[in-house]
Amino acid sequence: MIYPEPILKLIDGFMKLPGIGPKTAARLAFFVLKMKEEDVLQIAKALVNVKRNLHYCSQCYHITDTDPCPICRDPHRDSRYLCVVEEPKDVIAMEKMKEYQGKYHVLHGAISPIEGIGPEDLRIPELLKRLQDEKIEEVILATNPTVEGEATAIYLSRLLKPTGIKVTRIAHGLPVGGDLDYADEVTLAKAMEGRREL
Ligand SMILES: [Zn+2]
Repeated sequence: MIYPEPILKLIDGFMKLPGIGPKTAARLAFFVLKMKEEDVLQIAKALVNVKRNLHYCSQCYHITDTDPCPICRDPHRDSRYLCVVEEPKDVIAMEKMKEYQGKYHVLHGAISPIEGIGPEDLRIPELLKRLQDEKIEEVILATNPTVEGEATAIYLSRLLKPTGIKVTRIAHGLPVGGDLDYADEVTLAKAMEGRREL
């Protein structure tokens, strides 16, 4: 074994993160060795904290340390609008734009036959329940402009058709294959403005 056991464990740990291969993982592990102990402890604590103290909002499934989350609790939000996104990071991207005043529903993924992710793996039953229980007038499908995001939007628009609720899809100002959270705020605001009915 080339690396001592503790370093090897750290490299293995880093490699579980997205976009980190063996080389980067080794570089990070050796960097940690040189860091101040207090900085290392701070990162370690933050990692544990994020898992222990954050959970999903029981209404919208966004990440939160309170339940319901601050967005769901906010009486100033317009609950007639429900924006459906793939991931919590997409809520954060939308919130940075500061123009959308409605509420959210986080699916936690997108339909992907290749990865074996079907509608039953997403928060779709919870979405249908909300549409029954809440007075929602428009569902805005803001899944990513990727093959999976489009497939999810089409699936949802068909599923929601019988409810009679207006279903819209955000415009394609967004780069195809891109991610909602990589879009700048102006692009995202334009995509929201130019949404069309499905
Ligand atoms: Zn919420």
